[in-house]
Amino acid sequence: MIKRFYELQERVQSYHPAANIELLKKAYAVAADAHLNQLRASREPYIIHPLAVAAVLADMRLDEISVAAGLMHDVLEDSSYTRDDLTRLFGQEISDLVWGVTKISKISEVDVEDAQAETLKKMIIAMTADVRVILIKLADRLHNIRTLGHLGEEKRRKIARETLEIYAPIAYRLGMGKIRDELEDLAFVHLHPEEHRRIREEVGSKYDWAIGRLEGMKAEIEKILRELEIPAEIQYRIKREISIFRKLQRQSIDLDQVYDLLALRIVTDTVANCYAIMGSIHQRWTHIPARWRDFITNPKSNFYQSIHTTIITREGAKFEIQIRTREMHRNAEEGIAAHWKYKEGLAFLEHDNRLQWFREMIEYHKTNPDPKEFLSLVKRDLTPNEIYVFTPKGKVINLEAGASALDFAYAIHSEVGDHCKSAVVNEKLVPLKTRLSSGDVVEIVTNKASWPSQDWLKYVVTSRARRKIMAYLQREENQLNAERGQRQFQRLLRQYQKKRRQHFREEEVDARLAELHYPDRESFYRDIGSGRKAIDRTFLKSIFPELGAAEIKPARRPPRREGDEFRLVRVEGQPDIDVTFARCCTPIKGDDIVGYMTGHRGLVVHRRDCPNINPKLAPRLKQVMWNEEQSHAYLVQINLTVADKPGMLSHITAVPAAHGSSIRKIELDQVSQAMARIRMVFEVQDTRQLQLISDGLRATSGVYSLTRRKIARR
Ligand code: MN
Repeated sequence: MIKRFYELQERVQSYHPAANIELLKKAYAVAADAHLNQLRASREPYIIHPLAVAAVLADMRLDEISVAAGLMHDVLEDSSYTRDDLTRLFGQEISDLVWGVTKISKISEVDVEDAQAETLKKMIIAMTADVRVILIKLADRLHNIRTLGHLGEEKRRKIARETLEIYAPIAYRLGMGKIRDELEDLAFVHLHPEEHRRIREEVGSKYDWAIGRLEGMKAEIEKILRELEIPAEIQYRIKREISIFRKLQRQSIDLDQVYDLLALRIVTDTVANCYAIMGSIHQRWTHIPARWRDFITNPKSNFYQSIHTTIITREGAKFEIQIRTREMHRNAEEGIAAHWKYKEGLAFLEHDNRLQWFREMIEYHKTNPDPKEFLSLVKRDLTPNEIYVFTPKGKVINLEAGASALDFAYAIHSEVGDHCKSAVVNEKLVPLKTRLSSGDVVEIVTNKASWPSQDWLKYVVTSRARRKIMAYLQREENQLNAERGQRQFQRLLRQYQKKRRQHFREEEVDARLAELHYPDRESFYRDIGSGRKAIDRTFLKSIFPELGAAEIKPARRPPRREGDEFRLVRVEGQPDIDVTFARCCTPIKGDDIVGYMTGHRGLVVHRRDCPNINPKLAPRLKQVMWNEEQSHAYLVQINLTVADKPGMLSHITAVPAAHGSSIRKIELDQVSQAMARIRMVFEVQDTRQLQLISDGLRATSGVYSLTRRKIARR
């Protein structure tokens, strides 16, 4: 074991000559002591594991603090050493790191989904505090999965699945391609042994052919580069089994159709040479334009940079070629660990945007603590099966597969998202829910009078769009609750003041609310409006202590949410708003309607052609739809001009009855000797029934004219 420790020490000194070796020795001594008589599942001494984990961290060229913490990462879990012991022996920083790693392992949930959600949450929180916790955890997982063979089948599958679903994607997010690949390759063998074997065999049968092609292509490219005098190293590979598996699964194709089965990577010195190489390759061979991607100008969300292009030889063989600089290559392999700066400590990470995603996830989790939803959202983001679409100016936008034009709008800017109206995809006007494909050129049409609705949540797949829409709806709901609460409270206050013949000054009311620990009126109103705070007697007493028991009735309860007859319409994005029907135009189901926001009556629903709607007040207008499931008897008034002849009234009243409607009111005015005007109010379910009745009336002999008129609603 001592030999392995010296190897570790040499490895650290090779990239960090000034490393504190005494610290490493001390950490090793504590770890060796703590795990003294423990064995791994392989029957080997336990200390092999922490030594291997530390070696992985040294391969990442991390600081000695991380390596020391890696040596001791299982000490708190498996021995009598305590957190205080570590703080005393090594100081706060190392102690916190080890504690952070230990915390993630301690999962109380039994359910797999819940456990994953908890692990993820802990990892993300730990990572935003000190990213080294996750690097140690990744190294730990890497060694565990390398030695998975000694465990039982069920445990193996569980660890493999968690590795594929959480650890590998996190490594990807941090840009650590090398570790991600190894985690995935090993987990795939354990999770899908059958598929792995099948793909291996299938690729194996082509292996000699593939290597021959790759060697030939490599030689040809080398020749071109020599002529151009561009320095470059060329590596080649056959696509990894798990990537083939995913591609076959996703596109239901067979191996011959996998474009990037054969891939070469050209690593050169400068960006200019990357483009020069690309140019000469495109000159020499036919490339597939749809598969050409410039991640140098437009890096992936994890900062990956490279040019990808797929070429077809005259014999029909396809090769994917990646071109990048050495620095980009190192970045792609090591990600966040590539630029560790020993002098600056962790400060440089503050500005590393690869961590931005994790920060956003924490913010999101604060507002939406539901663990399952959090898990699904994070997982969706973690396994990006990406598409690349363009803005009209040619900027590439990276989205998840399945993303809609609405996702695109939010990817551009949240203001664009919040006010987008429609989209133009490849110069064709399409609805916002339209799904995008790689290569689409997308333009968003915005309008100040457009805003998010609940429905939008169904159209988006990216967590960014989802978060922004939910935030908007939440703000809106808060505002509406506050307005509704204010109406209820003002009503109550007026009632009370009238009774007591007493007037409260504003400050007095404020003072009473302050006693109830409300920071401002807004939050007080919001609590009432949302129903979080019921206006009952106890509550009234707390505001007006001098109140007699029978003196005041609690305010009318707000209408129930479900099944209430106020639910006759649906308001875009605002399921809970108070709705009343305008008295001027009395809409009935089936009419083209619009909602108008008022200060005191909530949303008033008018017919769209009502003259009382002022189109200049567009911001106050809301999209309103009839709720098809709800039925209600609407009152409608019809004015008729008829011949004044015997039996006329009974003919007319027979018509609504014949269509299942009851008449509520009828008035007849003599206009002249031969003509009368009839006002008739009757019940209808919807415009369709009204149409039938109107048609019936018009067809009645002696009816000259018919108009639908204004009427009070009840
Ligand atoms: Mn471990």
